[in-house]
Amino acid sequence: METTTVSSPRVSPIHMDAETFRRLGHRLVDDLARHMSEIADGRVTPGESPSTVRAALGTDSALPEDGTDADALLARTTRVLFEHSLFNAHPRFLGYITSPPAPIGVLSDLLASTVNANVGAWALSPAATEIEGQAVRWIGELLGMPPTSGGLMVSGGNMANFAAFLAARAAGAPWNVREDGVGRQHGTLRVYASSETHTWLQKAADMSGLGSAAVRWIPTDDQQRMQVSALVEQLDADRAAGDIAFLVVGTAGTVSTGAVDPLRAIATVCRERGIWFHVDGAYGGFAAATSEADDDLTAIGEADSVAVDPHKWLYAPLEAGCCVVRDPERLRQAFSFHPPYYHFDEAVVNYFDLGPQNSRGFRALKVWMAIQQVGARGYRRMIADDMRIARRLADVVRSEPAFELLTSNLSIVTFRYVPPELRHRTREKPVERYLNALNQALLDASQKQGAVFVSNAVVRGMYLLRACVVNFHTSMADVEMIPALLAPLARELDVRMRAAAEGV
Ligand SMILES: *Cc1c(COP(=O)(O)O)cnc(C)c1O
Repeated sequence: METTTVSSPRVSPIHMDAETFRRLGHRLVDDLARHMSEIADGRVTPGESPSTVRAALGTDSALPEDGTDADALLARTTRVLFEHSLFNAHPRFLGYITSPPAPIGVLSDLLASTVNANVGAWALSPAATEIEGQAVRWIGELLGMPPTSGGLMVSGGNMANFAAFLAARAAGAPWNVREDGVGRQHGTLRVYASSETHTWLQKAADMSGLGSAAVRWIPTDDQQRMQVSALVEQLDADRAAGDIAFLVVGTAGTVSTGAVDPLRAIATVCRERGIWFHVDGAYGGFAAATSEADDDLTAIGEADSVAVDPHKWLYAPLEAGCCVVRDPERLRQAFSFHPPYYHFDEAVVNYFDLGPQNSRGFRALKVWMAIQQVGARGYRRMIADDMRIARRLADVVRSEPAFELLTSNLSIVTFRYVPPELRHRTREKPVERYLNALNQALLDASQKQGAVFVSNAVVRGMYLLRACVVNFHTSMADVEMIPALLAPLARELDVRMRAAAEGV
């Protein structure tokens, strides 16, 4: 057995003296600053194969028995990460909904991990718990929720939606569902959401024991918005069958096309029937703060709970999600395992009582700092600018004869390449199939090339390119050049693929 001398002060292998920490830290910050200023000049992603990335990182090597020098390790790791990563801080990264990090958030993460507060219990994190409380209240205010609402920070939109789902389940089941579970002898619990809802809902239904078949998928209209008449019909039919509706989910900005459900009408249906109304605003929720917000976005203020993602439109570095609940006691009733008489101090929040996590990191700091640096006014402006830039992209695409614009909502634009001579034949089955294959190939080729990064959507069976502007680095010029960046690739692919396509 290995023995070590535990001297005083103790020197352990993981120790770093203050002078070394300062030197390595300064060099790292210099490297980060240079990297940030040079991102726009390079490619969005090197587009390498998994084996290339593994070889560069040495991720196939064995567990190191002996340690190594921190100085060289940090320098090498910084370099390989810069060489082999995808950068969502590139001005032409418009894929998925993954935003660039706010620099204040990067610095705040360093500060937060140095304090290393455990924000599970107030006693372990007095300052951090108070900061989280204020960050959540500010987020609620941006969303138009009442000042008495509250909630907690979680890792992202999925977790924020899960927390709200479980709060709704505990509140809506006519029996003690937390103790007795969801055995069918009690009745069938049902949740309602549009067919465009993000896949968190299947996971929530599965993990909560309801099963994904408990979800009633409500059809959407031609703009991918929930059909409220179909919701009402389904609720009536299920009530007649003795099922228990405990939750209706509306989405403020679907992942695919940015559609906002008719939230005002859904809120009314829920209020009339006493059903919990949850809004998945992971992407679009913060658009409610802008002056352009329409009546459906401002209806978020009527929700019983809202899930938002500060790591999207508030530009917090990953990870930061937030669940805001109109009556925050509902979270305690869904997650706490204290008996009701065990109220040791009513004046403080112990976050382990309000969510599934026990030990919790200080992810609120980066959000709280950015909100102060930017102000509500600054966020309103940045979000409105992203939407304006997206509308510009839609205009540019519309004016290009070889591109077809399909949708434009919030800051998401979907479009596809259609060779001009096929434009009038898009309803023919073989042409439809060909266009899907062509646009899929275009997406792959453009992502590999790395000049612009968009992702995809499928709308009414059409494979589309999808650009999402949640990026404070993106300018009008960046989106104006997109058709010109994609068209040569598309033409080249079209020549090669059309020769082999049948019936086109
Ligand atoms: C991003 C997103 C999610 C998932 O959020 P994560 O932060 O990725 O967990 C859920 N719903 C919508 C509408 C989203 O845009």
